Amino acid sequence: KGVLYIVATPIGNLEDITFRAVRILREADLIAAEDTRHSRKLLSHFGISKPLTSYFDHNKELKGRYILDQLAEGVSVALITDAGTPCISDPGYQLVRDAVAAGFAVVPVPGPSAAVTALSASGLPTDAFVFEGFLPNKQGKRREKLAMVKGEQRVVIFYESPNRLLATLMDLREVLGERELVVARELTKIYEEFIRGSCSPVIEKLQDRTIKGEVVILVAPAAADPEHDATESVAELLSCLMAGE
Ligand code: SAM
Repeated sequence: KGVLYIVATPIGNLEDITFRAVRILREADLIAAEDTRHSRKLLSHFGISKPLTSYFDHNKELKGRYILDQLAEGVSVALITDAGTPCISDPGYQLVRDAVAAGFAVVPVPGPSAAVTALSASGLPTDAFVFEGFLPNKQGKRREKLAMVKGEQRVVIFYESPNRLLATLMDLREVLGERELVVARELTKIYEEFIRGSCSPVIEKLQDRTIKGEVVILVAPAAADPEHDATESVAELLSCLMAGE
């Protein structure tokens, strides 16, 4: 039986590919890529020339079946996406799920992912965090989602597109107030930048410029509310007492 490799590729700086990723891509019989033209450039940079097939959101049913057939015939397949780790706000999850269900070995080949890369240098607490992927496009839904994470006691990480960044930051300020946050832009690239501060100063810094490149937004945890905690502990204590514990 073939093996399905989930191979992370760089999120900007090509030096971030791992030795193992290069070897697996060299050894795989078939590479499934989100965008074959984009990936061919990456592969040729590393001197890899392999049969490529596309696997993206709109052909994932059909291509998923094809890839499973290939695995059944003993073909080893490496899945890559345009940047970072497949399946993380990228295609791959259904393929992994189906491959696991069909009894194929699925082997992760780890490497960069923008969320963890941003968190590691953000200066925000790293002991616990929540990854929310992309916020909804529509403002109403976006605000609803933000309201859901308002009291979150862990760092919340969002992916965002540069042209929606300002609108999202304004929604963030509206719903969460002057929360501390970090905008990590163009990670691992020449113009890598971390913009740190509470909502208004960050918005001010970004307002007068054309924001280009890719961004991650990291929101600091909501401050623990001591009054709320106290009320909760009293309620818990009371219910324990009443239960005779
Ligand atoms: N699979 C990728 C990963 O593991 O990070 C994420 C793919 S998702 C389609 C693309 C989003 O990831 C971008 O909109 C941006 O939010 C974030 N991203 C990817 N590369 C980045 C970079 N170099 N700097 C900042 N954000 C990045």
